[in-house]
Amino acid sequence: MPRKVNPWVALGKLSEKVHRKMAPLKAFLTGQRLLAAGIAVFLLLLLAGVLPMTQRAWAVSVDGEIIGWTADKEATAAYVQEILGQDGAASEAAGRISYTPVPRNRIEITPPEAMKEKLACALLGLTEAWAITVDGEACVAVASEEEAQAVVDGLKAAFPPEEGTMVKEISFKEEVAFAPELVKEDQVHSVQAAIEYLLRGTDEMRIYEVKQGDSLWSIARAHDLRVADLEKANPGVSERLQIGQKLNLIVPKPFVTVVSREEKTVTENVPFPVETVKDSSLYTYERKVRTPGQPGSKKVTYSIVRENGQVVAREVLDSVVEKEPVTQVVAVGTRQPAIVGTGRYIWPISREGVITSRYGTRGREFHGGVDIAAPTGTPVRAADSGRVIFAGWKGGYGKCVILEHGNGSATLYGHLSQIMVKEGQKVTQGQTIGLVGSTGKSTGPHLHFEIMQGGVRKDPLKYFNHK
Ligand SMILES: [Zn+2]
Repeated sequence: MPRKVNPWVALGKLSEKVHRKMAPLKAFLTGQRLLAAGIAVFLLLLLAGVLPMTQRAWAVSVDGEIIGWTADKEATAAYVQEILGQDGAASEAAGRISYTPVPRNRIEITPPEAMKEKLACALLGLTEAWAITVDGEACVAVASEEEAQAVVDGLKAAFPPEEGTMVKEISFKEEVAFAPELVKEDQVHSVQAAIEYLLRGTDEMRIYEVKQGDSLWSIARAHDLRVADLEKANPGVSERLQIGQKLNLIVPKPFVTVVSREEKTVTENVPFPVETVKDSSLYTYERKVRTPGQPGSKKVTYSIVRENGQVVAREVLDSVVEKEPVTQVVAVGTRQPAIVGTGRYIWPISREGVITSRYGTRGREFHGGVDIAAPTGTPVRAADSGRVIFAGWKGGYGKCVILEHGNGSATLYGHLSQIMVKEGQKVTQGQTIGLVGSTGKSTGPHLHFEIMQGGVRKDPLKYFNHK
């Protein structure tokens, strides 16, 4: 008789405890009963295989395209309702959504969350994208995580520093992040468009082409903008517009502020100090440079903060003098001029002359001196001894000489045709200092003569008894 196979051996290692419990069953299954049991197991297995085939499932299609499989049509219809609201039933009625029965064992049921997302995408035309968020708010979407990163990198590179500047850190004033999000297909931007949108605050474009005769001011006024707005919208624009030049009329309201911390080292001049020394060999009106000054140089390192390209802070981090400046030494005279006038004046021209205008109000103007008509070339004399403190052109006075006579008195000679003295020169009473002429604001040859006392103009005729 062949050895009977114990079926439990095939089941693998059972614990001893289970083994003991199973002992009566084991006995039962031996012999002829083994065949009957085998048939029962076969039937069970058959049932398990056939049952799913008889269970129902559906392929869910939106606009003719299968988006998933469900065993629960009602739940799926509820999702549609959730996504489309009142329009859900209408959409189904219009045939956008269809359910095709499929054998359950042939398909893998789509998990509810995935089903919801696929329905939303298909029904609303949404697509998986990456939204760039600013302070938690989604601003703009791009196609992928890599593109989102490219936008962030692009923003940081949007305001390149000046040459010779070292960028220490680039950050954002706002919190800029990105996360996956479902958005409408037409809302997905290219990397470049997303960068521009985040920096301009709008997708709107308005371009103006410069025409003959335009200025920043006229363009701003015509478009209800301020010149400052126009400059903001067109960084680096200058007043010198070119015909045909394109100007942006949209004032940026950026979502993102790119903060750039930079360092720049430059060589700067150190101005030379000026020192004065008293010198008794020089007159009080004299100055002489004894040692010419020379500027020094220093290396200055600035810390610069820019926000979207605009400098908002600039401070000196370090300053090292490379070359010390040379102090300029100037000698200033202390010697009082010895020339003091006689205290009496003589008539300033060699001939009598006709007084054509007196001191005082003349029409709407004030006449600060006396006009003495005389032919061009008539010698003009120093009314008193003194020093020339001015000799040259002086506005309406034309060619003009001013003499200082000490004790606060001075005389002025205007409209001369020729000046015959130099500044600083000593003159004696009666010395010819120039010739009568008609230079400056004058209608004919005459001498305009003024007397000043303590810097105030006086009536010259008061000083001459015989007039
Ligand atoms: Zn005059």
